[in-house]
Amino acid sequence: MAKTKQASVAASGTWTDPDGQRLPSGEAHAWLQGTNQTLCGLALSRSRLLRFPHVAWQDVQPESGGSADYIQRLCPRCAAAMGRRRDERPWTRESPRP
Ligand SMILES: [Zn+2]
Repeated sequence: MAKTKQASVAASGTWTDPDGQRLPSGEAHAWLQGTNQTLCGLALSRSRLLRFPHVAWQDVQPESGGSADYIQRLCPRCAAAMGRRRDERPWTRESPRP
C-alpha cells in the first residue's frame, strides 16, 4: 500500500464543536477505516480509542490546523507510519486550551 494512504483518526477523547460535529481530542492515532487497530498496532477496543471516520489524519496535524485544536499528542509511530519525513520529532501541546 502506498504511503500516502487515506487514514482517519482514532483518539483518546472527544469534544463537540459549535456545529455539533464530533471531533477528536487527547492523543490521536492514525486509523484506516475497516480495520480494528491503529497504524501503530493498538487494538481500538482494548485501548479505548474512539473512531473518527469523518476526520482525516491530515486534519489533526498541528501545522494544518483543521481539527487539531484539542489534540494534545500525535502518536509518533502512527505519524511515522503515515510517512512524515520532515519534522519527525513528536510534539506535545504544553498548555491545552481549557
Ligand atoms: Zn499510534
